[in-house]
Amino acid sequence: MSKDKLAGTPVMRQFWKMKKENPDSILLFRMGDFYETFEEDAKITSKILGITLTKRSNGAASDVPLAGFPFHALDQYLHKLLKSGHRVAICEQIEDPKEAKGIVKRKVTEIASPGTSISENFLEQEENNYLGSITIEKNKVGFSILDYSTGEFKGSLISIEEIDRFISQYNIKEIIIPESQFDSYHHIVKKYNFLITKVANWYLDLKIASDYLKEHFKIISLKGFGIANQPLLIKSAAFALEYVDHNYGGKTHHIIDYKEIKNNDLMILDPYTIKNLELFKSISSGDRKGTLVNSIDKTSTPSGSRLFKKWILQPLIDIKRIDSRLDRIEEMNNNIQSRDSIISILKETSDIERILSKISANKATPKDFIAIADTLEHLNHIKKKVPKNKFKKNYELINAKKNLNSLILSIKNTIVEEPPSNYTKGFFIKDGVNAELDEYRKIAHNAKEWLINYQSNIQNQTGIKKIKIGYNRVFGYYIEVTNSHLDKIPESFIRKQTLTNAERFFTEDLKDYEGKILAAEDNIIKIEIEIFKTLRNKVLKEIESILNNAEIISKIDICSSLSKLSIDKNYVRPKMNCKNSSIQIENSRHPVIEDLLDIEEHFIPNDIDVNSKKCQISLITGPNMAGKSTYLRQIGIIMIMAQSGCYVPCSKAKISIIDRLFTRVGASDNLAGGESTFLVEMNETANILNNLTSRSLILLDEIGRGTSTYDGLSIAWAITEFLHNSKYFPITLFATHYHELIELANKLPRANNYSVSVKENKDNIVFLRKIIKGGTDRSYGIHVAQMAGIPKRVINRSNKILNLLSKEKKIVDFDLSEPKEDLEGKNIEAYESILNKIKSIDTNSTSPLEGLILLNEIIDEAKDI
Ligand code: ADP
Repeated sequence: MSKDKLAGTPVMRQFWKMKKENPDSILLFRMGDFYETFEEDAKITSKILGITLTKRSNGAASDVPLAGFPFHALDQYLHKLLKSGHRVAICEQIEDPKEAKGIVKRKVTEIASPGTSISENFLEQEENNYLGSITIEKNKVGFSILDYSTGEFKGSLISIEEIDRFISQYNIKEIIIPESQFDSYHHIVKKYNFLITKVANWYLDLKIASDYLKEHFKIISLKGFGIANQPLLIKSAAFALEYVDHNYGGKTHHIIDYKEIKNNDLMILDPYTIKNLELFKSISSGDRKGTLVNSIDKTSTPSGSRLFKKWILQPLIDIKRIDSRLDRIEEMNNNIQSRDSIISILKETSDIERILSKISANKATPKDFIAIADTLEHLNHIKKKVPKNKFKKNYELINAKKNLNSLILSIKNTIVEEPPSNYTKGFFIKDGVNAELDEYRKIAHNAKEWLINYQSNIQNQTGIKKIKIGYNRVFGYYIEVTNSHLDKIPESFIRKQTLTNAERFFTEDLKDYEGKILAAEDNIIKIEIEIFKTLRNKVLKEIESILNNAEIISKIDICSSLSKLSIDKNYVRPKMNCKNSSIQIENSRHPVIEDLLDIEEHFIPNDIDVNSKKCQISLITGPNMAGKSTYLRQIGIIMIMAQSGCYVPCSKAKISIIDRLFTRVGASDNLAGGESTFLVEMNETANILNNLTSRSLILLDEIGRGTSTYDGLSIAWAITEFLHNSKYFPITLFATHYHELIELANKLPRANNYSVSVKENKDNIVFLRKIIKGGTDRSYGIHVAQMAGIPKRVINRSNKILNLLSKEKKIVDFDLSEPKEDLEGKNIEAYESILNKIKSIDTNSTSPLEGLILLNEIIDEAKDI
């Protein structure tokens, strides 16, 4: 600490002490009704929050920069600091300034960080908000993730190479890395946009880490979580838990278990696949519009939506689990009326997962408690809509709900139906809950009545009609008697204040009552808060059961919404098997493009019938814009949907389970990451070739496009052979513009040619969007260029060059002439072409019909100008 800082005022010295303890956080320093920031923090906050940067006098030392905002605006400002990637330490006054001797005692009571915040303005309702914790040894990584806002806590043991894949699956907002590993490893995650935080090495010691977890979960062994023999997971979990525990001052009651994510149970989706299939984010706009979840997530609750995303990200490979999800949808489809009533009830529920984190962090309001009780009650109503005689799998699911009726009653009997939003003033506990409280309330309510009664009593007693009772802040309650009646006052009146023509008195009764009235309001608040605390403890005791019921709500939400989707959009139940390796889908559609087409356009459905034995590789040729990518993507998406337990967009689907879905779709640059299009393409392809399995589905959309034709073709050729000859026989769909590969498919026994059909008119082509057997050796590139509005001169010249190239294999003439344009910029060549056509007509040898056809052609050409 510099001399200057020590020389400051006591308050500033206090600030510096706190700042030293929280060097990596912006310190919000409570001073009266304001949160102030100083020095560097003030410069940062004023910029981010758009608040004024001023100066605070610092005694003998130089003035310090200062920026602050009113304390009640915390929520309004905090999320902005978090969103810009800062951690914020909130330092409160922990004693009443009036009672403080010297400077007010202060303490950092909470640290808010992007990975742990529960600020409603910061969180997105339908997204989880994860803190990631990585602990690395050799090539292995213990990767734990913790969502404080829902209590979800889980992790997986992965390799360093898998870090990107893991991160791409979760909405991680912050990563913690132990101090001693920070320098060596933080570069791996540096490219991501989240906050990277260094934490003390404490839990690198396995015993300390596992003891800490056991103590938190109140268990004697970590075997129950299946991680007893996974030191790296234990360590990374302990780091994560301690970090939030520290940030929230120990308020972690709602974190009740830790689950290991086992990749063996799930279909693995690479970051490329998640991106390329636009499951959650559109490649072009970066937002949700045009994504799979946008088209198929019709859930009614935020927690249902969050869970559904996890289902899509982690498709299952266990047929039983998939079928049980599908069974639930089928049952709903057979009971549409019940389903619709369930959906209406679901819309009334609240996000109890998130509310529980608020209760745990001691930030919940009475309204939140009512929301929990109401939601649990709604679940009771939903249960009634799922009777055993009509439902089986849904009945089993909902029957696993915990009976929390006594908690519902406790809440409803304690808190008023519509609690005030500012509950710090009390009056949110029902009458009849606490006798003392009722008494105080009576006093507060009846104060006026009592005073009127008392006034009339003393009027009668003294015979003074004009006697009156009043109140002022300095003297409290008084009885005022004008000087002319002073002789009539009884002895029990005690003088309080003298005015010019009146005297003010009090009596023991009045003083007693005054004390009671003034204390009443204080006591009301105190007792209400006490009752509220007891209720909070009751809820915290049931946290496990409440979370269990919350998950049931999410699951019921997902399956009822998928049922509605399947009927509204004509999706069917896929038939899953794991015997062989084949995919047979009839009339498959792309769920997103189908949604986006205009009403008059129709999505053209396509079939697929492939298997690893005979049709392992499908080479799909066809012009640009014909629909090749769409076809590839829709097959990938249908596989993901099916294995996530959704009905799928087609008329019939018989699908063998896959364990990995690889895609190499579309050319996308990662220039920001220093990679060219071609390098990105090759990275993605290398990932496929090195990691494929016998149950992989590989979707390749153009390979080798980013380099010269011969380079590209050679790579595409070799890759096709590699995949064909691989001992794993992975099913592969390969869309390509290299028609040379058609020949290859004719030679390889398990490869087949397909193409997207096109109808050729005289000058243009019509895309029929139908996948048919056999390859096409035409690219129609020039047609597509023409349709896109490339000038006719370029089109004509392209056609000519194409002709030369196909015949002579080289360009033999050169056109160095200027494009001719008249004054209005119109293409004179087009006029010349029409003119020549007219000139060449030999009327003697032209029949009337031929003449008419010629005339029509000329009219068409003229229209094009
Ligand atoms: P390619 O990969 O062959 O260049 P795309 O798959 O990108 O072509 O398809 C181009 C456009 O054609 C898509 O954006 C979509 O609007 C439309 N399209 C593709 N397939 C179909 C289909 N089966 N039915 C209707 N429209 C389709």
